[in-house]
Amino acid sequence: MSTRTLDTDILIVGAGPVGLFLANECARRGLKWRIVESKPAQSEHSKALAIFPRTLEIFDMAGIATPFLEIANRVTSVRIITHEHTLAQMPFQPEESPYPFIAMVPQNVTENILVGELNKKNGHVDYATRFVSATQYDDHVKVVLEKNSHEESIHVAYVVGCDGAHSSVRHQLNLDFEGGEYHDLFMLADIETNAILPAEELQLCPHEAGPLAIFPLNSNRHRVVATVPKAEGHEPALEFVQDLLKDRGPSGLKANYLYWSSYFHIHHRQVAQLRQGRIFLAGDAAHIHSPIGGQGMNTGLHDVWNLVWKLDLHLQGHGNDFLLDSYSTERRPVIKHVVEITDFLTRMMATPNRFIQALRNTVIPMVSRLAPFQHAFVQKMSELGIAYQGSPVVEGSGLRYMDDSLRGGKGICSQYLLLLNRDLPPVMEKAAQQLEKEFQQIIALRRTHDQGIKLVRPDGYIAFSTNRESQASTVETIKSILQQQTMPSV
Ligand SMILES: Cc1cc2nc3c(=O)[nH]c(=O)nc-3n(C[C@H](O)[C@H](O)[C@H](O)COP(=O)(O)OP(=O)(O)OC[C@H]3O[C@@H](n4cnc5c(N)ncnc54)[C@H](O)[C@@H]3O)c2cc1C
Repeated sequence: MSTRTLDTDILIVGAGPVGLFLANECARRGLKWRIVESKPAQSEHSKALAIFPRTLEIFDMAGIATPFLEIANRVTSVRIITHEHTLAQMPFQPEESPYPFIAMVPQNVTENILVGELNKKNGHVDYATRFVSATQYDDHVKVVLEKNSHEESIHVAYVVGCDGAHSSVRHQLNLDFEGGEYHDLFMLADIETNAILPAEELQLCPHEAGPLAIFPLNSNRHRVVATVPKAEGHEPALEFVQDLLKDRGPSGLKANYLYWSSYFHIHHRQVAQLRQGRIFLAGDAAHIHSPIGGQGMNTGLHDVWNLVWKLDLHLQGHGNDFLLDSYSTERRPVIKHVVEITDFLTRMMATPNRFIQALRNTVIPMVSRLAPFQHAFVQKMSELGIAYQGSPVVEGSGLRYMDDSLRGGKGICSQYLLLLNRDLPPVMEKAAQQLEKEFQQIIALRRTHDQGIKLVRPDGYIAFSTNRESQASTVETIKSILQQQTMPSV
């Protein structure tokens, strides 16, 4: 660690949802941190709306799920409808999660909840404070900030750039932001409607003129997102939205009032690496993609959930460079997949090709009734299917693990859980106890009725699991996984 006196350990740049969630996690873990935001206050725009089941589970593990659950509209089914013809109506109720629904919460409300939770932990955001530059040294980063036209230099152990699509932190690192731009313009409108659509149903409307998605805030308030060939006026007017709904939406749906609306250009890009030395990127600073699918904010929140325990262990002297590197190695494939799948969805919903339209309109009604298709669809969209198989710090499937003991913000922090079947052979029991002793600061041992042995990481993903509980090599494997990420780097 640094021999210089540092102003703080983790500097978070940007108080969007991703930076705010990271600040909450730093505060919960008792780390030294600071969050700066260039704007004078939180944004009032409600861009992201959908919070998916895995994100709710993560909020639960972080101890902040309750205010979201109190306020959210719960969506439990997805209807795909084109030219007033329903192609599919699929349940969205993943049984394996305590949160079998999509929580609809406007992004400004999400940010206010996160600020409120941060305040409860005696944390606050430094508003009107802009990140200007960073210079990396072996043992710290010197950062220049600007507030009220005054520059301030601070020295920190790590910087996490959560500063959005135009990230200054990313520019500072001079990293490629690979991808492209959608030719079409996107529009967004929050409208009051007649109450013909169920509040618990989300509508996706493929159309040759461009996709349209309708997200319910309740039965008579909806968010419409669509692509349009060109802008009409500075921002979409009520009549414009009414025409769009008439052309592409479910029949009978009427927009009576416009709360706010906007046009925006969207890119689909991802950064070449998420870490450079002591500086990390997360959220829109690292990846941007089509809002069809509603994955952007969720993916950013998962980024910092993956990162924070690694920084925590590193700052405590229990995690090495290899572990920090795994942030980029693990998240890049997940991000790549999200960029690709949202791109596919956007293009598929907008295809002008009549053959592909016909194929889509024939295939979707058939496959959407099949349980395996429904399951695969929900797994992808809910993000419950994310796994870190192939990661250098995981041996095996890297699947998510969830049980009640992880919930409520107290169950999981910076310790791995070593879950042992209650009836292990004595020799294995002894070996596991020995392991716990050796890694006592980072392992918590627990007996379960589950078969075999599992090593669960502090973010609720399985680092290793086996049913072959009587093999002595099992404990050796777990030991080598832990050593690999905790031994000091040479
Ligand atoms: C129309 C629309 C609909 C969307 N719908 C969904 C959805 O349903 N679900 C979903 O998951 N996602 C959705 N998204 C994407 C989602 O809004 C973003 O992914 C999310 O806002 C990213 O959060 P963030 O914290 O990474 O970045 P931002 O929200 O962009 O926050 C970055 C913050 O950093 C600050 N900042 C910038 N530069 C500096 C600096 N130099 N110094 C200090 N602070 C700085 C900014 O002021 C800003 O507050 C949607 C996006 C759009 C545009």
